[in-house]
This record gives sequence, C-alpha cells and structure tokens, in this order.
Amino acid sequence: MRAKKAGELVYFESDKFSASGLVTHAFCTRKGGISKSPYDSLNFNYRVGDKNKTVYENYKILEEKFGINHHHILTLNQSHGDGILIIDESPENLEEFAIKTKNMEKDALITNKLLIPIAILTADCQPIMFLDRKNRAIGIAHAGWKGTVSRIGQKVFREMSRFYGTSPDDCLVAFGPSIGKCCYEVGEEVIEILKKEFSNWKDFVINRKNDKWNFSLDDLNLFQMTEIGIPRKNISRTNLCTSCNNDFFFSYRKEKGVTGRCLSIIMLI
Ligand SMILES: [Zn+2]
Repeated sequence: MRAKKAGELVYFESDKFSASGLVTHAFCTRKGGISKSPYDSLNFNYRVGDKNKTVYENYKILEEKFGINHHHILTLNQSHGDGILIIDESPENLEEFAIKTKNMEKDALITNKLLIPIAILTADCQPIMFLDRKNRAIGIAHAGWKGTVSRIGQKVFREMSRFYGTSPDDCLVAFGPSIGKCCYEVGEEVIEILKKEFSNWKDFVINRKNDKWNFSLDDLNLFQMTEIGIPRKNISRTNLCTSCNNDFFFSYRKEKGVTGRCLSIIMLI
C-alpha cells in the first residue's frame, strides 16, 4: 500500500490492485476537500452535519482527480450489519440507482460490471476491498467491530465465489486505515462475543488494567482472510491508526463523534 497525491488530495492505493490494470481505486484521507472544521476537509457523508453543498463539491473534486462520475458512485446507508448489495447486471440508469442505494441498509457491495464505482464511508471502521483478477469482479466492505465479529469480509468473499467463481488464489484484498489496537478500547460485551466466535480471540486484543481491553479490527480481519485460504501475499494493509493519525483521517473516537467520513472507492475499468 502506498500514499499518493493528486493536487491537494492525499490517498492510499494498493500496488497489487494497481498492477492488475483492472481497477481505479483509492482509500481517501481527509486531505484535499473544502469542508470546514470539524469536517475538514474531504468529508463525503451528507448525514453528519456538514453543509450539503460542500459535500457535493467534495464529490466533484473526486471526479476531477479520478475521472469517476460522482453521480454514479454507489454508497449505502451503512448500518453495522452484514448485508451485501450484489450488482450483477448494469442498472439502466446508474444515477437513479445511486440515489436508491444511499437508503439501503447494507454494509458491503460486490459487482462484476465495468464502470460502476462502489464506495464505503468510514471514520475508524475498516474499509476492505476485494479484487478477483481472474473473473474480474470487485467487492468493498465496511467493517466496524460488529461487521468484523460477524465476519463480513468472509461473507463478501463467499458471495463473490458464489456469483463470480472467485477462488482464494485469485482474490486480492486491501485493508484501509482503521482505528488501531493502540487506541481502540472496547467493553466486555465485545470481548464476550469474540470469545464465543473465535477460539484464538486473544490474538486480536490487548488486556489492559481494570478490565479494559483494546481490540484490533485489522488483525481479526486479516485472520479471517487467511482462514478462508487467501494467501498472505495477496493481502495489502496500511497499518495506520486513524486515531493516532487524526490529521490525516477522520476519527469518530478521537473527535468524540463529531467529524466527517473518509471515502474508499473501487471501480472496474
Ligand atoms: Zn492509535
């Protein structure tokens, strides 16, 4: 994974995804937009209190830099669930479809159609991208602690396998920045679920004093990918904590819930 600049805009991309020549993709940071504090500056979420006109302009900036029609970007009404939107035929009117998907309560998208940009919004949660190099299909998921413990990454892979024939060896995965175990304190309710779902749950947490636990979304999502047989060499990570690097990323925890959302986007070309 490497950081890149396009004018003022700073983003991350996976070298392996880029080398495939099959996709345009970016994990955006908060740099390069026009939103004012506390949404400064590249906020892509209309629902967090930022001015609509400003968010709209940020989407236009993205279009200028990446050549992605901003009316066509499919986002969801992310709900910390594990619902997956499968787009296996090109919508007749992509602009109208993009308006509909904004209200769909789901947390991941997959498609094998060209020129359909699929995107996830995050501030601490982990964005995960998938690319099947052989069958030319993509996926993107929003993995907060709820999505992660319910194995949303594995579910996206399974749906790609079912619909497009994706195999572990052909599947590239990229993990975007998320809150790290340095900063992500969780309560007993999360630990109880981890214990139930993962026999190796101790690999993904640090036990601090006074029954306080810190949890790594990144490590658990990585484990889930290797568990289903995706080779480690297929997986890219940034290993950047959104809270420690709050000047580059929106952080819901660090900014006490009042902040913008970063956009992660991928499109088959
Ligand atoms: Zn941190």
